Amino acid sequence: MVDLVIPAPPVVALPVAGTDTQFPVRRVYCIGRNYAAHAVEMGHDPDREPPFFFQKNTNNLDPSGEFPYPPHSSDVHHEIEMAVMLHSGGCNIPLDTALDHVFGYAVSLDMTRRDLQGAQKKMGRPWEIGKAFERSAPIGLISTVADVGHPDTGQVELRVNGDVRQTGDLNQMIWKVPEMIAYLSEYFELAAGDVIQSGTPAGVGPVVRGDVMQVNVAGLEPMTVTVV
Ligand code: MN
Repeated sequence: MVDLVIPAPPVVALPVAGTDTQFPVRRVYCIGRNYAAHAVEMGHDPDREPPFFFQKNTNNLDPSGEFPYPPHSSDVHHEIEMAVMLHSGGCNIPLDTALDHVFGYAVSLDMTRRDLQGAQKKMGRPWEIGKAFERSAPIGLISTVADVGHPDTGQVELRVNGDVRQTGDLNQMIWKVPEMIAYLSEYFELAAGDVIQSGTPAGVGPVVRGDVMQVNVAGLEPMTVTVV
């Protein structure tokens, strides 16, 4: 046993629906502009250009149901996304076996300090300050592939205080889940514990403290998150 010079950071682990087991997280990848209508609302061409990814920190994932409004922003946006959990990985994964690496799926949010992200974009700088802040990725219970298969169609809907703000359908993804896995694995070695946030449909917008977000993807466990 190696002597650690500081205490080991806690393992980030997410609850699996209907069990008392948890899924340990290794990395978090997020795809940008993966629904055409959202690309358009952000001022971009919806044509199928190569996908792009950024990352969040593993401990940004938060199943608590509370989202603390972060500092240094006055324009924090919700982005509803289906998250994909991998139980295995590799490099150069072929498209036709990509889904074999998926353990399960969950609803999630890619909360964004849009004002800071916008300033970084303008300067051609990285996005972390806008994207990878504390508790920026609220996440629901994981549904296993054994229970729900591989959802590739079905409604995606986010309500704030009961009002529908984002709607879309999983079948509107520009890059499908197997394509994201295959593509990512050409640039990174994917592995068990990796999580992919699969992009958001149109309708992103700001939240304020006290807002209650209801996050639904057809077939998956719903999630309610309060902005505190
Ligand atoms: Mn996003």
